[in-house]
Amino acid sequence: MGNDMNKESAFFGFWKTSEFDPDDSPWVHDCIDVNWKPADKNKLFKYIDSCPLVIVSGSIRTKCLLCDDELASSDFVSDGKWLWPKDLTHYMLKHFVRLPDKFIEHIRKMNYDYPREIDIDWRELPWPK
Ligand SMILES: [Zn+2]
Repeated sequence: MGNDMNKESAFFGFWKTSEFDPDDSPWVHDCIDVNWKPADKNKLFKYIDSCPLVIVSGSIRTKCLLCDDELASSDFVSDGKWLWPKDLTHYMLKHFVRLPDKFIEHIRKMNYDYPREIDIDWRELPWPK
């Protein structure tokens, strides 16, 4: 894996908890922004919701950190550069989680065009450490 990919790639939606404290992961509460209403929010959401799954282990369900909903928190999605849990859509829709600027810029640069499938070894993706 080259350094260039490391620079460009990142992850989002791996929330810090009392048991889990990876590098660069925020508390979900710090990502909530009810005033975040960019004109292209629907397109950004569609992108997040439509990228291909890279890991599906749907049998593992854990409770949302903010409500009582059960989420498939071990299903992961990627566009080849960024990596996020499938349940990020829940946090965006129901809890007003805002995407980081770098992630938004990336999606806009892609012109909201998400890959239908990606051919990548999931171990190569930028997992939080
Ligand atoms: Zn929730």
